[in-house]
Formats: sequence, structure tokens, C-alpha cells
Amino acid sequence: MEETGKKTIGLTTQIFLALLGGAVTGILLYFFAGESAFVQDVLVDGVFYVVGQGFIRLMQMLVVPLVFCSLICGAAAIGDSQALGKIGVRTIGFYLATTMLAVAVALTVGMVIRPGLGLDMSAIQTVETAAPKEKVSFAETLLNIIPQNPIASLAQGEMLQVIVFALIVGVILAKLQDKVQMVTNFFQQFNDIMMEMTMMVMALAPVGVFCLIARTFSGLGFDAMIPMFKYMASVLIALALQCCGVYQILLKVFTGLSPVRFLKKMAPVMSFAFSTATSTATIPMNIDTLEEKVGVSRRISSFTIPLGATINMDGTSIMQGVAVVFVAQAFGITLTPVDLLTVIATATLASIGTAGIPSVGLVTLAMVFDSVGLPTEGIGLIMGIDRILDMARTAVNITGDAVCTTIVAHQDGTLDKEVFRRD
Ligand code: ASP
Repeated sequence: MEETGKKTIGLTTQIFLALLGGAVTGILLYFFAGESAFVQDVLVDGVFYVVGQGFIRLMQMLVVPLVFCSLICGAAAIGDSQALGKIGVRTIGFYLATTMLAVAVALTVGMVIRPGLGLDMSAIQTVETAAPKEKVSFAETLLNIIPQNPIASLAQGEMLQVIVFALIVGVILAKLQDKVQMVTNFFQQFNDIMMEMTMMVMALAPVGVFCLIARTFSGLGFDAMIPMFKYMASVLIALALQCCGVYQILLKVFTGLSPVRFLKKMAPVMSFAFSTATSTATIPMNIDTLEEKVGVSRRISSFTIPLGATINMDGTSIMQGVAVVFVAQAFGITLTPVDLLTVIATATLASIGTAGIPSVGLVTLAMVFDSVGLPTEGIGLIMGIDRILDMARTAVNITGDAVCTTIVAHQDGTLDKEVFRRD
């Protein structure tokens, strides 16, 4: 675990330096070499473009297999929990509800702050943007969730269909238990492979980020700076609202516990999640803290916390909600009310499919963009600053798991409030 922490911090610094280096290089090129055909053709539209887009393609390569395996494993774990009955259903209910609330908060913050306004992406856009969306009726949209041919859905990256099929497979794996142990193991191991692959691709992030940011800034100069800061601020504000507002109201209403005391007790776990950007690594510490400082029995937390670290990523879905609004504004695309509902649905599903390791939220973002026809190139825009946001959203991800777990324990009648009151 410690190793993960060290590696993560090392990579974080690298990405941060790449971001700064890319921005400075881009701005210098904008002011001093904007007219040079050589710089434009060979550097900006050559090296920066190829390396940057290559990195995005590597990330896109991960999406389908990563979401597919991670969801099968997640659904298999949920199916397993049938013994836990009521607790399982309540936990999943709270997890889904808080994620939907999170996306709604994010969309609202994004539409109030309007981070993408003033960033004219058409200025540096040389790749083809997404094909204009054909308008499909609501009935068709509903029907389209069911895959006619799951293999075709996988091949074409139809994420909603992939998700539906993966969920069904996972539930059946859990139902048939020992009879299908080999297939379950296969998907678990394939999931491990995909996580490892994600780590490998992420190791290239400093180079990818440098090229993407340098290209963006070489086309826009300082104009790119303010929208990017606004985007960052929007995500951080939405995360703060979710963590200190939504969660604490839910905690107070459902359990009567003091939100400030709860946050104080959770602070070390949140800091750990922040520094590693990995929900998964935080599982043991979260379970321990809930038992020793909050009064949640391990019988509940040992099931709900790992499940939450796999399927409940409220912080991640907040970043995705704000990113959708930001990129839509930057590309001048208007989002209809149906688009917004689609984003709430897909970002909630993406949160289920996001593995609790660094940067995966950025990978599943492609599927949210896809669902409303936003160009995936938009991801390149926010990739450079994502590392810092990844740290913040991971802290929110694990806090959401802890809050829901505490509420469920309270409803189960097993929350030891004496432990919570102790200093
Ligand atoms: N780093 C996040 C987590 O582990 C996932 C993500 O949003 O990339 O919770």
C-alpha cells in the first residue's frame, strides 16, 4: 500500500511539472513562434498532436474492457451479498441516490459558474469533432439500452448496452457460485490486468499532458488559463458542497450525529485518500476508523466499504458532471434537458464502473461524453489538471462510502453512538 502511495506522489509531481512546463512552452510558442510554419507543422500539429492524441487513444483503449470487467466483478460482489439482504439493498440504494445527487450538484455548479465560456476550442480544433447527434425518440433511447447483440455493443463501444450486459453476467456469476468459479476467476483476473494496464498508461501521463497542454496553450495563449482555473474551481466547489453539505445533511437527518465531529474523525482517512488518489487502498483504514471512532460494526463495514470503493464514486461523478458542462461550453454545444438527465444516468453508471485507483474517472469520462455526443478530444483539455482533482475527488469518494455506511448501520440498530461521542 505504501508503495502505491509513493508511486502516486511521484507521478503526481511529474504530471504537475508537465502541466506547468506544457503551459509555459505553449505560451512561449504562442507569443514568439506563432507565425513560424515550421513550429506549427512539425511541433504543434506534429509532435504535440500525435503524442497527445496517442495518449488519449491509449486511454480510450482501456474503456470498454475496463468497464466491462469491473462491472461484472462489482455485480458479482453485490449478488454475493444476498445473505446480507436488507443491508445490501439499503446500501446500494444510498450509494445510487448520493451519486445522482452528486451529478445534479455538479451540473448546477457548472451551469452557474460557466467555466467553459470564453474558451473557443474551434480555434485549435483540427481533428474532426463528433458527428452531429441524430435526435432519437425517448422510447428508442430506452430500448437502446438493451443490447440486441452484446458482442456488437462491445465492438462499437455502446457503453450503456455493455453495462447492462455486464451487470446481468455479474449477477448470474454470483447466483451460480461454484459452478462458474472458473469464469468468475477469469473476469477477476482480467480486471486485474486492466487495472495494471491503466497504471501503465497513466505512467505516460506526464508526456501526454505536456503535449496536450502545450498544444492548447500554443493556440490560445493566456486565454486558456482562466477557463481552466474556473473549471478547477467549479469541481472543487461542487466537491465541497457534496462533502460538507449533502453528506452532512443526510447524516444529521438520518442518524442525528454531529457532522463536524464526523468530519473530524474522518479527516485522517480523507487525507490518506487525498494523497494516494486511490479509494481501494483506503479500504482498511476506512473500516478501522468507522469501527473505532464512529461505532460502525465490522459486520456491516467489511461489506459496505469495499463495495463502496468499487461502485460508489460520488467525487468522480462530480468531476464528470462539471467536465460535461465545461466541454459543452468550450465547444459551443447546447445541452438539452434530456442530455442533462442522460448525463446523470451515465455518470452514475460510470461511477459504478470506475475502479478505485488513480485517474480511472478520466477514462470512464469518455463514456459520459459519448452518451451526449461531446467530442472526446475535450478530455485532453482537462487532463492536465486532473491529477489534483483526482486527489480531491477520491477523498469525497471514500467519505460518501463512510456516510452511507454509518446511516445503514444506524438503521440496522447496530451503530454504537457511545464510540462516536468519545474523543
Ligand atoms: N481515483 C479515484 C478513486 O480511487 C477514481 C477516479 O475518479 O479516477 O476513487
